[in-house]
Amino acid sequence: MKSVLCSLFWEGYTLYKHKHLGKGHLLFILEALNDPVCGGCGQSCRRIHDQSLRRIRDCDLLDQRLSLELSVRRVRCGRCGTKTERIAWLPRSGRQTCRLIAQVEDLCKDQPIKHVSKRLGLPWHTVKRIDKARLVRELPEVDYGSLRTLVMDEFALHKGHRYASVVADADTRQVLWIGEGRSRESIRPFFESLGEHCDQIEAVAMDQNSAFDLEVKMHCPNAEVVYDLFHVVAKYGREVIDRVRVDQANELRQNKSARRAVKRSRWLLLKNKDNLNEEELVRLEELMNANQSLAQVYVLKEQLKELWRSSSIWGAFKRWRTWWRMCRQSKIKPLLAFANKLRPYLRGIIASAKYPLNTSVLEGMNNKIKVIKRTAYGFRDTEYFFLKIKHAFPGK
Ligand SMILES: [Zn+2]
Repeated sequence: MKSVLCSLFWEGYTLYKHKHLGKGHLLFILEALNDPVCGGCGQSCRRIHDQSLRRIRDCDLLDQRLSLELSVRRVRCGRCGTKTERIAWLPRSGRQTCRLIAQVEDLCKDQPIKHVSKRLGLPWHTVKRIDKARLVRELPEVDYGSLRTLVMDEFALHKGHRYASVVADADTRQVLWIGEGRSRESIRPFFESLGEHCDQIEAVAMDQNSAFDLEVKMHCPNAEVVYDLFHVVAKYGREVIDRVRVDQANELRQNKSARRAVKRSRWLLLKNKDNLNEEELVRLEELMNANQSLAQVYVLKEQLKELWRSSSIWGAFKRWRTWWRMCRQSKIKPLLAFANKLRPYLRGIIASAKYPLNTSVLEGMNNKIKVIKRTAYGFRDTEYFFLKIKHAFPGK
């Protein structure tokens, strides 16, 4: 039994004796059966320079934690000089067997570090180091030659004090690049790595408030900048719907129930109409019947979205003109202010008719990044966090 176990798990070693290290924790002391093998050239080598005891962790044996202890030898190799011996099932300097490392890597694919650490009884930073090494090793490759359309976005790091920028392929959704900062300079390294392929980029979608457009124009002479529906509608929600809703609630001070209905309507007004259930649709209709301004800004939100659903540039432009006229006629101040601010970006908005980049790419990316951030995943290590994001969007 002993020799079967040894030849299965610890090739070249035999179990000399075992000890109990405490409740549920076994220690196996192993002895080498053969001459060591040089870590440099792989030749068997008789001359031993020195040896040192190493305590390492292995996978659990049934319900027992398992540690191993063995002498690791250094050889005097005729070709390589002094070298640490090579052991097939143990990484050169590691304190975990290859088997245990493979188990950590596998568990980390769908569990937070904390859970894996607890389950295997390994320190948190050890689990993270192992997972990070796998993420680096298995990083999805980028095929620059096939890129045509891109999406760019920014997201907050550390409670919004710092930001990061991300670039993805709009077709495959592969995350191509991530870097800290959200300035023109901070995204420049992406275009430098894109090099000669900059010329083949046809369109880049982004938030109209980002600093990315000028940088895109500088590097990609053939690219059209397209402003993304997702960001514009989110901004409309904050700057128009929220403002009008608060104003309306203040006007309804005398009518408590109507005031409460308006105050509680935020999600009702911001959510996509297709995602509302029957009860919510009834509430929405009642709200709109009772509040003319809210009804107007709601209808104009839906019409604003239609700008991105035009089949031609000219069609989009006509829709813009209608929308613009309706905003002016409404005389609702936050709406007028929003429309005025949006006007300079018209070209990039109606360009979406020619390059209909699916807005769900950006929206989905945004949400998934938030989830990765929330589950912590070693968030204080930005490099690790970025690797996690790249792996979450590997492309096709
Ligand atoms: Zn050698």
